[in-house]
Amino acid sequence: TTQKVLNFGPGPAKIPEPVLKKAQDELLNYNNTGMSIMELSHRSKEFENLINKAQRDLRTLLNIPNNYKILFMQGGGHTQFSAVVYNLLAAKKRKQFDNNTMKGEINPPLDYLVTGSWSAKAAAEAKKLYNNVNIVLDVKKLRGSYGSIPPREEWKLSGPNAAYVYYCDNETVNGVEFNYVPEIEPSVPLVCDMSSNILSRKVDISKFGLIYAGAQKNIGPAGVTIVIVREDLLTRLEISDSKLPAIPSMLDYKVMAENNSLYNTPPMFSIYVASLVFEWLLENGGIEEIEKINSIKAAKLYDCINKSKIYKSPVEESVRSRMNVPFRIQPEELEKEFLKGADELGMLQLKGHRSVGGIRASIYNAVPLEAVETLIQYMQEFERKHS
Ligand code: PMP
Repeated sequence: TTQKVLNFGPGPAKIPEPVLKKAQDELLNYNNTGMSIMELSHRSKEFENLINKAQRDLRTLLNIPNNYKILFMQGGGHTQFSAVVYNLLAAKKRKQFDNNTMKGEINPPLDYLVTGSWSAKAAAEAKKLYNNVNIVLDVKKLRGSYGSIPPREEWKLSGPNAAYVYYCDNETVNGVEFNYVPEIEPSVPLVCDMSSNILSRKVDISKFGLIYAGAQKNIGPAGVTIVIVREDLLTRLEISDSKLPAIPSMLDYKVMAENNSLYNTPPMFSIYVASLVFEWLLENGGIEEIEKINSIKAAKLYDCINKSKIYKSPVEESVRSRMNVPFRIQPEELEKEFLKGADELGMLQLKGHRSVGGIRASIYNAVPLEAVETLIQYMQEFERKHS
């Protein structure tokens, strides 16, 4: 039977039904091998073909230039919080060494923009590993809560000395999304967590040193994390006085790149489903088409909230996420009833993150426009009943 519920989960999130069907069809016999993808050797020709095709398709979808490597890593977004620190500090040291500027900048700052709970967590992890983390911007400190992105004049960037500038393009919990790519010193690599909005809109990859994204929102099942990294950042300083800790192999982008992400046994099923999602996107008009639909979905839902007397968005209009739409109901006592009613109608996983409460509708690529329209209808009926 086909799925009868509408899944608004923030991640793990809905996977396109044709993708699940294809995975089901091939589950017992992948590509005439007589076994499932999970039982094949990761060193087999079949899997090598698959991982190469997945890379080609992702490269096509996002128009990734040839001087960027695509890596399939493990450990989710959280592991990237530390992988970024190790790898990009090593790259910065290499650059300092090559330019003979080691002496003056022995301890380069790491710049973090904190616009929501995920970038806050990434900055906290960086502080555990390194003693010169510079908070460029902490929206909660500046404004009392997350929900806006203050203008550039309020940012405290370190300038050309920074090893990198880090930000999160879409804050999944708080529903805050950048509507531009931050302008920084061109010599400083820009690092971006796109876990919850990758593949949802066009992006100029060449502006970034590194982009990463956990799979369980717009890519596929949890277990694989995609890293897109500019090749020049894979260099390494191998001198003893670099004062840097060695990079654990599993966090090492260079090791992963040199081994085509097959350094150890990769999460084969997750990579397989991700490759089916890439094919699904390509068959349906690519990023251009999905971006259009995403804009319509978000516009309709925010329009419903704007016109309502009981639904309130905690996010400033210009930075409202097209992927995660958090809102409160006034009075807040109604939220429980709202969720219960939605549940009964098969609209699931609408509860806001435990740290902020309220409601959150996540409307990733795989959530069709009709699902959003059904949700809006329910919201409007619920409002009529309670006013
Ligand atoms: N970054 C963002 C933007 C996220 O939404 C999440 C997970 N919801 C993470 C990082 C952490 O990802 P993981 O659970 O895969 O470690």
